[in-house]
Amino acid sequence: MRNENQPLIFELIHEDRIGYSLPELDVPDVELEDLLPEGYVREEAAELPEVSELDIMRHYTALSRRNHGVDSGFYPLGSCTMKYNPKLNENVARISGFANIHPLQAEETVQGALELLYELQSSLKEITGMDEVTLQPAAGAHGEWTALMMIRAYHKANGEGHRNKVIVPDSAHGTNPASAAVAGFETITVKSDENGLVDLEDLRRVVGDDTAALMLTNPNTLGLFEENILEISEIIHSVGGKVYYDGANLNAVMSKARPGDMGFDCVHLNLHKTFTGPHGGGGPGSGPVGVKADLIPFLPKPVLVKLEDGTFHFDYNRPQSIGRVKPYYGNFGINVRAYTYIRTMGPEGLRQVTEYAVLNANYMMRRLEPYFDLPFNRHCKHEFVLSGRRQKKLGVRTLDIAKRLLDFGYHPPTIYFPLNVEEGMMIEPTETESKETLDAFCDIMIQIAKEAEENPSIVQEAPHTTVVNRLDETRAARTPILRYKKDYK
Ligand SMILES: *Cc1c(COP(=O)(O)O)cnc(C)c1O
Repeated sequence: MRNENQPLIFELIHEDRIGYSLPELDVPDVELEDLLPEGYVREEAAELPEVSELDIMRHYTALSRRNHGVDSGFYPLGSCTMKYNPKLNENVARISGFANIHPLQAEETVQGALELLYELQSSLKEITGMDEVTLQPAAGAHGEWTALMMIRAYHKANGEGHRNKVIVPDSAHGTNPASAAVAGFETITVKSDENGLVDLEDLRRVVGDDTAALMLTNPNTLGLFEENILEISEIIHSVGGKVYYDGANLNAVMSKARPGDMGFDCVHLNLHKTFTGPHGGGGPGSGPVGVKADLIPFLPKPVLVKLEDGTFHFDYNRPQSIGRVKPYYGNFGINVRAYTYIRTMGPEGLRQVTEYAVLNANYMMRRLEPYFDLPFNRHCKHEFVLSGRRQKKLGVRTLDIAKRLLDFGYHPPTIYFPLNVEEGMMIEPTETESKETLDAFCDIMIQIAKEAEENPSIVQEAPHTTVVNRLDETRAARTPILRYKKDYK
């Protein structure tokens, strides 16, 4: 099955075999030139594949079987929270009152949808310990940028527009420095100490009256909880900076600890990670931002409010707002799914999610610890990072291990990240996986560690059972061929 060769759709063309039949034209034919402005009409007909409906069905079904998703197998991709997305979410998102409304409809005709958004905001406020939430941002990175633009507007409004530095730890997710740069800040890196946590001395050294904000993930990308978080936020606040929480992966603290109680001023969440929105493949996502009271005036507009008569209304009269960050009101369908999830789980359910996510990660970490280096040997939260440096000495790199996992039908963990771990493998099992699945994956990891010692070439040359074997990744990234060309061979 896996090895069957699947031709391109263009290679299936059989002239005049078509997938539709239309009745004879019984209305006057119109020249396109009469309808469209000059220059907009194609000279030659588009080259479309001529295939039958059945052929096209089989073609795309065969391709879809080559995909790996949470519904088809284990997906321990660290910092991504590839958990199961309950199908109930899909049923609710497809209710026609949600699926078929239009963003330009009058407010009084969509009160139910607005109430759902309002209630979702309220739940997220409670979960994060923030005072207000916007649902506009479409992804985590978009949320980061939105919050940074608000921090920028806040400093400016206070006559402190000179604050142009954003501090990020060396273990930070790559989107953090990227968002800071796009928002017009200069980023400063703060080092991790030997325990994998923010080095407080280094932090004290880099803060100053030009500090706009610190961006922090807690637990950090090593899966470790920043136990000095109160001191960290105090250091930033004492110089007038804001503390930003990258809450893309809330799986480790949800219903246990709240960024708002740790001294954070704002936070973004990834509803397409922690709150079971489907993700991957480029979206759509949802990256709401929560803020403490002094950032509320700068929220993107419109802001959804509940009026005294109990109805819901979009408030555009927000003179200090950073403006819109997304057409309309965010990715509504993903917000419906997240709301469904939160309401079906309840606070107790969300607490259990956190407990199982952390338990699963610690269980796997301890099972794998004898076979791989564990650079930061402490209890982890929702994920942990192994190092492949022991295998590297045998000539087997982390990339080889990741490729070998494909032979067993697993999606590999995140590799070579975070950057402060040599040959890193970042594993996040999530709470939705059973002990049998975790054990089966660990067994394969242990088998690969043994292969690295006894038969390294089988790992170095992997994968062996996939549709294509090892790709030239540099060439694939530098000279991708994304479009069919007839004469390309
Ligand atoms: C996934 C992730 C992001 C970025 O989220 P996107 O929705 O992919 O933009 C940011 N920070 C952390 C820690 C993440 O895991």
